[in-house]
Amino acid sequence: MKPRVWVFVEQEEGQAHPVSWELLGKAQELARDLSGTVEALVLGHEVESLAREAFAYGAERVYLIDDPVLSYYRNQPYAHGVVKLCRKYQPEILLLGATTLGRDLAGSIATALETGLTADVTGLEIDPETKNLIMTRPAFGGNIMASILCPDHRPQMSTVRPRTFPLPESDPSRQGEIVREELGLSEEEVAVKRVDFIAKEKTVNLEYAEVIVSGGRGLGAPEKFEMLRELARLLGGEVGASRAVVDAGWISYEHQVGQTGKTVRPKVYIACGISGAIQHRVGMQNADFIIAINTDPQAPIFRIADLGIVGDLHQVIPALIEAVRKA
Ligand code: FAD
Repeated sequence: MKPRVWVFVEQEEGQAHPVSWELLGKAQELARDLSGTVEALVLGHEVESLAREAFAYGAERVYLIDDPVLSYYRNQPYAHGVVKLCRKYQPEILLLGATTLGRDLAGSIATALETGLTADVTGLEIDPETKNLIMTRPAFGGNIMASILCPDHRPQMSTVRPRTFPLPESDPSRQGEIVREELGLSEEEVAVKRVDFIAKEKTVNLEYAEVIVSGGRGLGAPEKFEMLRELARLLGGEVGASRAVVDAGWISYEHQVGQTGKTVRPKVYIACGISGAIQHRVGMQNADFIIAINTDPQAPIFRIADLGIVGDLHQVIPALIEAVRKA
């Protein structure tokens, strides 16, 4: 039997979270190195169309559990379904997004299967000799990168932050096999019931923004974020921030980029008055083009910048805004 590399397809009301497809892209590389197969798990209610999307993003086979009990996310029935599939099909690797849902679910699955779980990984590769999965993640405050192995238990499990890996090309002509399974759990057996649903107003979409204008302590004062907001608005982007200014209460946590904030992969990242500490860089170093504005020519952010402007942001940003307005 070929080793199975599994990706859990996270969905809400039939809409897949893009991290699922990013993971299918990575799973193709891992499966190639293992001579294995790329397979996806789709759980939900009336979600069969997601199986076809999974094929388009590289899954060769989809295990589908379609049941009204799964019509909205609850840990117990989802964990039950995934654990049941794992016990039956014995995957080698199981990947989930490090989203709120993925983090909640992964722990329950790993506990039930008595296997290890590496959270928030930033790199995945197959050891050419042992064929074990090497899961890399920052450790000790981001000062070292730890390589974590799970040699004795299966599946080897990781949660991976959105935008860690690029979105693969979708090919809607790709076909695959759908394996249908029963959930085997009735509504009466589920302990948690939803009595009401209040959607949180989502104000920032940092992870999938194409342009991010990010501010750090060099701004000097919270009201200086106003000019970053203006520049971001003109460029059709979002405002990001370093942890220093989030901790100082200058801007809310949902704007934070970095190890303990969001991982982003925009086309353009403009770092304004950010020194570029490793904990910040791990969250944004995969941006296509990095522009750094800093008064200190030795600032570490310049090491990864494609374009470095040594200067006072209080002069550079207004000039940039002016130039964009005129363009
Ligand atoms: P500073 O390091 O103080 O840098 C300010 C920069 O502004 C300096 O380089 C300075 O030269 C420049 N500057 C000053 N005035 C001007 C001006 N007028 N014009 C232009 N430039 C100017 N940090 C994160 O960002 N994200 C995280 O997720 C994160 N997680 C962490 C997790 C742990 C466990 C730990 C220990 C730390 C974490 N940090 C994180 C904090 C990180 O180590 C840094 O302290 C933080 O990123 C620094 O923020 P900063 O660059 O805004 O501030």
